[in-house]
Amino acid sequence: MSQCLFCKIVRKEIPAKILWEDDLALAFEDIDPKAPTHVLVIPRKHLASLEEADWEDRQCLGHLVMVARELARQRGHGESGYRTVFNTGPDAGQSVFHIHLHLLGGRQLAWPPG
Ligand code: AMP
Ligand code: ZN
Repeated sequence: MSQCLFCKIVRKEIPAKILWEDDLALAFEDIDPKAPTHVLVIPRKHLASLEEADWEDRQCLGHLVMVARELARQRGHGESGYRTVFNTGPDAGQSVFHIHLHLLGGRQLAWPPG
């Protein structure tokens, strides 16, 4: 997807503070952090949202979750806790249509979210 913002980050056409890269995924700092740790974990493959995913994508989606756990542990949140969120569609406020898993941590997170 040539015009997709996060595909451009995957292709290194726009800068990002990249924290993780492997054959399936990339993780980078959110540009507008909502917590001391706010990282986005994305697949290299363009997938607009969870609604667009097929069952064949489940390994890739599970991979994103495990990368988020690894980064949460690296940041010292393994014991204190953290949140992993996919925003999907208008009611969830999804604004970038390349699927991304938010990793939030480093402070007490309110529940339920707004
Ligand atoms: P969502 O609202 O769930 O679609 O989340 C999109 C996230 O992408 C927001 O938290 C934004 O702050 C973040 N974001 C937008 N543009 C960039 C960028 N160029 N680099 C890093 N994060 C970004
Ligand atoms: Zn994309």
